[in-house]
Amino acid sequence: MAGGLKLYNTLTREKVDFEPIDPDNVRMYVCGPTVYDFAHIGNARPVIVFDVLYRLLRHTYGADKVTYVRNITDVDDKINARALRDFGGQIADGSMSLNEAIRAVTGKTESQFHEDVASLGCLKPTVEPRATDNIPQMITIIQRLLDMGHAYVASGSEGHEVLFSTASMADYGMLSKRKLEDQQAGARVAVESHKMNPADFVLWKQSADTEPGWPASFTFEKTTTPIYGRPGWHIECSAMSDRYLWEEIKDRLSPKAKAKPHQFDIHGGGLDLIFPHHENEIAQSCCAFDNDLMATVWMHNGFLQVEGRKMSKSEGNFVTINELLATEKFGGRKWPGEVLRLAMLMTHYREPIDFSVKRLEEAERLLAKWPAGDAGETAPDASVLEALSDDLNTVAAVQAVHALAQAANADPSKLPLFAASAALLGVAPKKAEVSDDLSAAVQALVDMRLEMLKAKNFAEADRIRDELAAKGIQLKDGKDKETGERVTTWEVKR
Ligand code: AMP
Ligand code: ZN
Repeated sequence: MAGGLKLYNTLTREKVDFEPIDPDNVRMYVCGPTVYDFAHIGNARPVIVFDVLYRLLRHTYGADKVTYVRNITDVDDKINARALRDFGGQIADGSMSLNEAIRAVTGKTESQFHEDVASLGCLKPTVEPRATDNIPQMITIIQRLLDMGHAYVASGSEGHEVLFSTASMADYGMLSKRKLEDQQAGARVAVESHKMNPADFVLWKQSADTEPGWPASFTFEKTTTPIYGRPGWHIECSAMSDRYLWEEIKDRLSPKAKAKPHQFDIHGGGLDLIFPHHENEIAQSCCAFDNDLMATVWMHNGFLQVEGRKMSKSEGNFVTINELLATEKFGGRKWPGEVLRLAMLMTHYREPIDFSVKRLEEAERLLAKWPAGDAGETAPDASVLEALSDDLNTVAAVQAVHALAQAANADPSKLPLFAASAALLGVAPKKAEVSDDLSAAVQALVDMRLEMLKAKNFAEADRIRDELAAKGIQLKDGKDKETGERVTTWEVKR
């Protein structure tokens, strides 16, 4: 079905045929979490949405032909504040350095994030780089921007800064469709008078002693200024996408891809990243590499909302992934990861989701009707591929998978087709584990029912069957081929 995939491109505001620059090296970058605290279920949405896309691309182009990069943001003022809050005492008495405190915060949060998203059935990206491991790459791009007249060094109230000069880019605003003039009109120029233009943004800024920093020096208009400092928010994604989607793999790219240096196929994230984050990534990457495009297709998921408002840390209306999976905070009970995953996929990724217990219950009810099975070598059904190929229409895909589940329930030979199709959504119902005690108890009731049937006590036999069904155990009657006698098998329905 190569060539059949259509994706909505935020850049052009239309659905486009997806054509990778090099089909043997499909390249996707998704902005990852800022690791200062537990991720909430809104943060889980892009991880799940782009995981489905990753699965679809792997299926279409080959599992080893897709490079998926999702970064870990471990430089951020929120991380700094959290390190000071949690380890301020140790930093003050000298038993811990600021950097150690920061690593303690980010290390713990990063492992929690990995645990959370694994429970949601998400595959690991090909590369998951940390911002702090890519500081030299950021410094190189910033110096390029200075050399090419797209950046300048200025002095603000917090020391030296290297700023991107938005006026130096003719089509600044191409993604968000914001015009520079509009931004100038409403800006409070007086507050940031060191900026040439109010829309100019930080590439590098000087750090105080209580802030994390790296030594760097930048040459601007023949003057070299050492600035012990830290990167601005956007530069890390320009640096990491270029390193892992171009620099480190360029030798193996096709001639066509080599002729489009520093460009890749898909860039994704939540809707809130369009401006300023992605707009500014585009500005940095296009100007530093003298390109018209950074990525061909830009994709943005809609918000997960609570009572019409975006779930966010600052609103205080959030539930963490961990709370949902491991505590009774949401709806008074724990929820399995695949229920949350399916609940997300029951809405198209570009639509908002109003999150509720009802929605989780709906997903759980659906999932309970899906059988456990092995895909083996079977390919997913065309109906599911077709739905996903239409700009990741997971709503139609879930319906198609449900139809396959019903077919498999009626005819077990269709189980592999269902399992292969569900796997494309990252949902793989497992056989419930049954303890020996439970197994013995169920078998005793099954045997008793067979006795009742032999004795033609159908009412009692039905009562036993219904009692087991109420406990989620389904009986299947068949005939022994040799003796012709009734045999009953059973399984636990989830
Ligand atoms: P952050 O850690 O806030 O930078 O967010 C990480 C990712 O989650 C970004 O792609 C955000 O756009 C996305 N995100 C944050 N909040 C929500 C939400 N309520 N619904 C959907 N996506 C979100
Ligand atoms: Zn980013």
